Amino acid sequence: MSKKYDLIIVGSGMAGLCCAKAALAKGLQVALLEAQMFGGLIINVNHLDPGLGDNECSGGADLAATWVSDLSDLGLDLMYEGAIGLDLTDGIELQTATETLRARALVVASGARLKRLGLPREEDLTGKGVSQCADCDGPMFHQQEVVVVGGGDSAAQEALVLAQFCSRVHWVHRGAELSARASLVQAAQANKKIEMYLQTEVVSLLGDDIITGVELKNSSLQTQTLPCQGFFAFVGLTPNVDWLCGQLTLSQSGGVLVSENLATSYPGIYAIGAVRDGFGGLLKDAMEDAQRVVHEVADQLGEDG
Ligand SMILES: Cc1cc2nc3c(=O)[nH]c(=O)nc-3n(C[C@H](O)[C@H](O)[C@H](O)COP(=O)(O)OP(=O)(O)OC[C@H]3O[C@@H](n4cnc5c(N)ncnc54)[C@H](O)[C@@H]3O)c2cc1C
Repeated sequence: MSKKYDLIIVGSGMAGLCCAKAALAKGLQVALLEAQMFGGLIINVNHLDPGLGDNECSGGADLAATWVSDLSDLGLDLMYEGAIGLDLTDGIELQTATETLRARALVVASGARLKRLGLPREEDLTGKGVSQCADCDGPMFHQQEVVVVGGGDSAAQEALVLAQFCSRVHWVHRGAELSARASLVQAAQANKKIEMYLQTEVVSLLGDDIITGVELKNSSLQTQTLPCQGFFAFVGLTPNVDWLCGQLTLSQSGGVLVSENLATSYPGIYAIGAVRDGFGGLLKDAMEDAQRVVHEVADQLGEDG
């Protein structure tokens, strides 16, 4: 027989963790599923900027660990398993590799993963100079040259982290302007180790067994080769929606479409945080989504009786 919950939350990033805490406070019977590591995208960020305020940890891994430990004490059913399928023929039924779970309501909080540039050999060279985590891999590039790609906050933050270790950080962005917030751009501009290349694209990665450089092309179609030992792309996120098996309506950019009250196209299923279309982008936005959705779920379950 499948286990039944008031609420199942899929994904334990900050959206899912915060949702679980708020739902438990309402007295709901809750299960939280996590396919990889509790905490999601932030666990590799050593210095959160913005963070969550004076009383919270400044590192992502510490923050997630504190939340998970608090939640275990509150009686949450924490499952170290990913959702691999969703069946909506007779209510909400979720498959994991080992069991089937049923729920009166489901919150999709499966977040997103960093996109790759899609260059030939990018996958092959991953772990051989190609990385997407400055805090984890930055020290390996001590006094070496690296390339960072992207124009947003993540690219700026990671370029600044890398500048602490590397001799030179080449920051490449294909647009004419950066979308990162002004304080990060100013910090990068003031950093002598960071050199910016606007209206410029990386067209190929060089090197056989490890990365040795990149080829760039600018808006005047001039090409240039840059030697580098590390390569970090931060060019947006892809929502984690494969496990939904096409059962919910998605936006053109691949996020789960939601109404004003975070409801998806299927009654009783909601989506919050980085997996949803129109997400604000920051931790505080994920936590706001979580608070809002628990009100909706509690109202729904109250009406269902
Ligand atoms: C490099 C970087 C730096 C950032 N720095 C900051 C910062 O300093 N300050 C700030 O406010 N914001 C920052 N952000 C943004 C912040 O990370 C996001 O707002 C937040 O992590 C979104 O949380 P989430 O829970 O929606 O998704 P995620 O963090 O993506 O969590 C989703 C979770 O769901 C799990 N999951 C996925 N599929 C399944 C499945 N099928 N079954 C079970 N589990 C599943 C994933 O493993 C993951 O743990 C940063 C983002 C990046 C990329």
